[in-house]
Amino acid sequence: MIKKHRPIEKHRNRSVLYISAIILCIDLLFVAINYYTSHKTLQNTLLQQAENHRNEFDLTLNMTYRNMLQLSTFISNNDELNQLFLAGKKAVEKEGMHSDKVSQLRKALLDKVKVPWDLTVQKFNVRQLHYQLGPGSLSYLRVHEPNRFGDRMDNTRFTIIDTNAEKTAHVGFETGRVYSGLRGVSPVWTTDPATNERTYVGAVEVGTSFKQILPLFAHTFNVENAVLLSKEHVKKNMWQSYVSNYFRENTDIDYYLEASSSDDVKAVLAKTTINQGFIENNTTVFEEDGRYFSSYYFPLFDYQGTKDNTLPPVGFVLIWEDVTPLIVDFNRSFWVNILFSIMAFILLEIFLLWILRKEKKLSAAKREALIDGLTGLYNRRFFDALLKKESANALKANTPLSMIICDIDFFKRFNDTYGHPQGDEGLKQVAHTIQRIVDSHGGVACRFGGEEFVVVLPYTNLKDAINLAESIRKSVSSLGIPHESSLIRSHLTLSLGVSCTHDSPSSKSLLDAADARLYQAKEKGRNRVEPCFASAHGHSSDLSQ
Ligand code: GH3
Ligand code: MG
Ligand code: MG
Repeated sequence: MIKKHRPIEKHRNRSVLYISAIILCIDLLFVAINYYTSHKTLQNTLLQQAENHRNEFDLTLNMTYRNMLQLSTFISNNDELNQLFLAGKKAVEKEGMHSDKVSQLRKALLDKVKVPWDLTVQKFNVRQLHYQLGPGSLSYLRVHEPNRFGDRMDNTRFTIIDTNAEKTAHVGFETGRVYSGLRGVSPVWTTDPATNERTYVGAVEVGTSFKQILPLFAHTFNVENAVLLSKEHVKKNMWQSYVSNYFRENTDIDYYLEASSSDDVKAVLAKTTINQGFIENNTTVFEEDGRYFSSYYFPLFDYQGTKDNTLPPVGFVLIWEDVTPLIVDFNRSFWVNILFSIMAFILLEIFLLWILRKEKKLSAAKREALIDGLTGLYNRRFFDALLKKESANALKANTPLSMIICDIDFFKRFNDTYGHPQGDEGLKQVAHTIQRIVDSHGGVACRFGGEEFVVVLPYTNLKDAINLAESIRKSVSSLGIPHESSLIRSHLTLSLGVSCTHDSPSSKSLLDAADARLYQAKEKGRNRVEPCFASAHGHSSDLSQ
């Protein structure tokens, strides 16, 4: 059986396709990695900005507490006011909160403090001044709401409870009966004129609200913001009538809008998913009216929550800012990236095709040097190299290698009879017939020189080679090319010598053996196949007998 000869021609176009696919994959990978890293960088930048704003918010809060405490300390050191507060306290202890004496003393304190207090309110964004009696928290005078007094806030106003208990100042955010405030509370001491002893009277509290400080925060740090409180927290602490005063009931969300620097808060909330616990590790980017915004939120703890970290936050702070330039930059660099990748791909493809064309030209030139001009078969040069290579392969793989040498009978006479051009035509026809048969059997046909052809048959044993040689002989004969001057037939015929070697093949012995068989074929009357084995030592054995 004749095995198929491996194709020598490389699948160049397929290789180009593979290389192009690899370049495309690398290109796409590059785009993806680039997108991923720059997206990560953008996210980090936005998060960093948001965290900076969070620090700025904390700073604003601390500055506010400091200011509140400064004011309450200042007021708690006014002895004239303290004396009136002490007199009031004594009257409450003696006659109860709602006696006339207490009312007079409260009014006297109010009259004394009202004018300077109103001035302070106008100038310094404060909104509340509140005198409280301890222990716990018993409202004595709300300067900002003078008709509301005498209520206890023992489970609500812990800044006051702690100040009254510890007789030291406290600050913090707390929701009281009337409003949610940022508060500074100072202890009030004075000398009791009856005993001439230094006496503790109660606490004085100064407070402001987020409404006062958020626009300032927004303006100073260029970030819009809102403070939202959980409904549960507000309802627990605030008088119901004040809840509806300060908060707009919002059925969409589970918290009250305490204050905001902008009216857009509802739109921002609609785009931002708020997690439970109000903890988020990333910013949310969204588009609104052709501009990009980044929103972020963090929990807000009240005074109790900052003291006891097992308590939940009472609400959260929402911040957002216009980040259009950053996003536009990111989008631009993404498209520039895509463009560069496409350009790089095109350039690489052009380069690849240029190399391919060059290589094609080069191999065409190489091929031409190995092809016989008249018949289109491989030439002697190619044959020499092929025989060497296939001999080595056969030796290595221990497979048979066969060879056929074909020689046209009485071709000199053919030329003499029909002329040289007709001779060329005959040569071409014979060559094509040989090639057609050999190709279909995985062999390689070459023009050996003049009117001789040689066929190399890898993986082919002698029996198959003889069969093939016989079919070549028959096919050429049946071409019926007239050859009236032939001494054996009236048409063109071939004589063929066949050789095969299995172990230790040498190219020379194979060729010599085939040549010797061809000579025998001629001797024996031409138009015949003469087979033989080629041994490692170059001897041949005739199988025809
Ligand atoms: P034999 O049967 O013994 O082979 O006789 P022959 O005449 O074929 O052998 P010989 O070697 O005497 O002659 C070979 C001839 O082949 C001589 C030459 O004119 C012819 N020939 C060689 N190459 C070409 C070619 O390229 N074109 C043509 N037309 N003839 C060629
Ligand atoms: Mg010859
Ligand atoms: Mg001849």
